[in-house]
Amino acid sequence: MSQNSGIINENVICNCGNSCNVRTSRTVNNLGRRFFGCKMPKDKGGCGYFKWIDPSLEVELLKEKLKEVEEEMYTLKYKMKELGGKFDSLKQKLKEIKQERDCAKAKFNRLVVVVLCFFTCKNYLWVV
Ligand SMILES: [Zn+2]
Repeated sequence: MSQNSGIINENVICNCGNSCNVRTSRTVNNLGRRFFGCKMPKDKGGCGYFKWIDPSLEVELLKEKLKEVEEEMYTLKYKMKELGGKFDSLKQKLKEIKQERDCAKAKFNRLVVVVLCFFTCKNYLWVV
């Protein structure tokens, strides 16, 4: 998202009252970054006016990083939603399994009662 190719229509006036030249930075930290500067060199009485045109590389990098983080957040939110859905379906399955287990328990208890009845009756009949 560099604006280095953008055309500058802005007319910036420095403290001397002159319109500024567009200049390009040659320092390592801001290489190729354009700025408005006073036409007159400082040692010839220029005001030393200075204003960046292009955003700093650091800001650009931070913006990109922010975009990445936002995208990651979005992905994580989506995954969380997905996991939430899975969790709900697992909860439902667990409920079903518990119900089945309770049902099986009840059947088993009934069977035990029947078997006990059978033996009790058999013993009773035997005694009689
Ligand atoms: Zn000036």
